[in-house]
Amino acid sequence: MKTLNLHCDYIKFKALKKALKSIDEIAPNQKLEDESKDCLVVMVAIENEDSKETLKKLIEDIKKTAANVKTENIVLYPYAHLSTNLGKPKIAVQMLNEATKLLKKFNVIQAPFGYYKTFELKVKGHPLSELSREFTVDGNTVIEEELTDDERSQLLHQLQKSKLDTSKIKENDHRIIGRKMDLWSFNSSAPGMVFWHAKGLHIKNKLIEYWRELHRINGYSEISTPQILDKKLWEISGHWSKFREGMFTTEYENRDFAIKPMNCPGGMLVYKTSPKSYRDLPLRLCELGEVHRKELSGVLGGLMRVIQFTQDDAHIFCTEETLKNEIEKIIDITIELFSTFDIKIDHIELSTRPKKRIGSKKIWDLAETALEEVLKERKIKYITNKGDGAFYGPKIDFHIKDSLNRTWQCSTIQLDMALPERFELEYTDEKGNSKRPIILHRVIYGSIERFLGIYTEHIDGKFPLWLSPNQINVMTMNDNIKNYASKIYQKLFDAGFEVEFNDKNESIGKKARDAQIQRFNYLVTIGKKEKTENKIAIRARNSKEITTIDLDEFISKLKEEISSKKDL
Ligand SMILES: [Zn+2]
Repeated sequence: MKTLNLHCDYIKFKALKKALKSIDEIAPNQKLEDESKDCLVVMVAIENEDSKETLKKLIEDIKKTAANVKTENIVLYPYAHLSTNLGKPKIAVQMLNEATKLLKKFNVIQAPFGYYKTFELKVKGHPLSELSREFTVDGNTVIEEELTDDERSQLLHQLQKSKLDTSKIKENDHRIIGRKMDLWSFNSSAPGMVFWHAKGLHIKNKLIEYWRELHRINGYSEISTPQILDKKLWEISGHWSKFREGMFTTEYENRDFAIKPMNCPGGMLVYKTSPKSYRDLPLRLCELGEVHRKELSGVLGGLMRVIQFTQDDAHIFCTEETLKNEIEKIIDITIELFSTFDIKIDHIELSTRPKKRIGSKKIWDLAETALEEVLKERKIKYITNKGDGAFYGPKIDFHIKDSLNRTWQCSTIQLDMALPERFELEYTDEKGNSKRPIILHRVIYGSIERFLGIYTEHIDGKFPLWLSPNQINVMTMNDNIKNYASKIYQKLFDAGFEVEFNDKNESIGKKARDAQIQRFNYLVTIGKKEKTENKIAIRARNSKEITTIDLDEFISKLKEEISSKKDL
C-alpha cells in the first residue's frame, strides 16, 4: 500500500465518469462531489499483497499524522497513480470501507473509487504537511502466541546449554577464576557479551576510575557519543565500505542505522559542533565507547574475544607542530598505566608508510620520525614493520607480556590524515588561514574486557587492594564474640571497604579456606582474646603471619595501600 498524506487548507473533488465497469454502487460514506476544509487528505493506492495487517498500519499512520497536525477531518482519496501494482478493485473497495469504519472517531469523507476525478487542493506547506508512506507486510506476520509451559521450559533449557566446559581450560583461566569469585558469566543468549556480576563490575569500575583520573591530569576531556548512528555517517567515515561485514545494523522509520563498531565518527561530529582555532588545539577527547563487532561465534572466548566491549578510546586533534609532543604524551601515559599493574611492555611495533597512501611526504616524514624518536628517547625496544601502516597514517602497537610469558597487543596509536578530510574538519591557524588538523586515534587498555581477562590470569585473580572486590573477610571463632565481630565488620563497611562477614557455625579453618579461594586480601579473625584486648587478628593474603592490631591502625594501613596501588 502506498500513501501520500497532505495536510490541506481545503480540497474540492468531483467524479467525472466511471473508470471501472465493475463499479456499480457508491458506499454510504462515499461522495461523488464534495469539499472539505482544514483536513488531512490521504491519497491511497491499495496493492496486491495488502491485507488486514497493512490496513492496520495505514490506520495507525493516519491517526498519528492527524494527531500531529491536529485535525479531525480526513479525506480518503483513492489514487491509483501511486502504484504500478494495484490490488483487485473489489478488495480495494472493501479495504477503503473498512478503513472508514476504523476511523470512526474522525469526520471521514471517502472520494469514490473507480472514477475519473478532478480535484483542487491547497497544501499548508509546513514540514509535516506532505508525507509519503509505503506499508508492506513481511512474510511472517503470524501473531506470536504465548508459549506453553513446556515450550518455555525447553527454550530456557536450550539457553542454559552454553555452560562452560572446564575440562579443556587451565585452572588459572579467567573464566574459571571469574566463576569461583563470582565476577562475570556468559550466556548463549548474548554471544560474546559479558554479564557483569557485582564483583566483576566493581573491578571494571575501578579500572575506569583510575583511567579517568590519569586522563584528567593529562589534559583530556571525556565525551560520550550515541550507540546507534545513521548509515550515512558510516559511509562518510568509510567504515560502511570496508567494515560493513563486521557491523550490526538496524532500521528505524525507513532509515538504516549501524550499532557503532568504533567511536571515531561520533568524535568527529563533536569536533565539528563549533569552529576551532589553533588555540583550541591540541584537543584531546577521550571516550569509553561501548562498541559491537561481529565475530564468528567459534572464535569467541571469555573476555579475551568478545563482540561487545568497552574501548578506552581517544581522539587527539592536533597540528603538525604539536604532533610529536602529543605522541610523546600518549607513550608516557601508556607506560605509566601498565606500570601501575606491574605489567611490562615487551616491545613496540612501528608500522610505516605503505606504497598506496594519502597525505604529503612532509607529514609522513614528520609522523614516522616523531614516533621513532620518542621510542629511542624512552629507550623502548621496537620493531619496524616497513610498509605495514594504514594508507592514512603510520601506527604503533604496544605488546605486553603477562606472567605466563604470553604477549598481547593492547595499546595502539594510529595517526590519521584521512578522517579530517572526510569530515572536512578545520581550524584557523595564527594567520587566519583555514587548515585541517591531524588526528591521533589511540587506546591504552585497548578493550577493558580483554585487558581484565589478561590481567586476571596474570595475577591469578589476586587483585591488589585498590581493585579488589574481596578486600576483607571478617570471621568469628565462636558465637560468644559475634556482637563484637559484627561491630568490627560494620566499622570497616562504613569506612568504605569491600568487606564480608562470616559468622557461620563452621570451623575457622573452613572459613579461612573459603576466603582464600575468594582471594580476599585480608582475613580478620575475631576470638575471645581479640575481644578482651579490643583488637583484631589479621592475616594478609600472601602471608602466613598473623598480627594482632588496633582496628584504626588497620584502617589507615588499608587506606595507604589503596592510595599507593601497591601491596604493602
Ligand atoms: Zn578513532
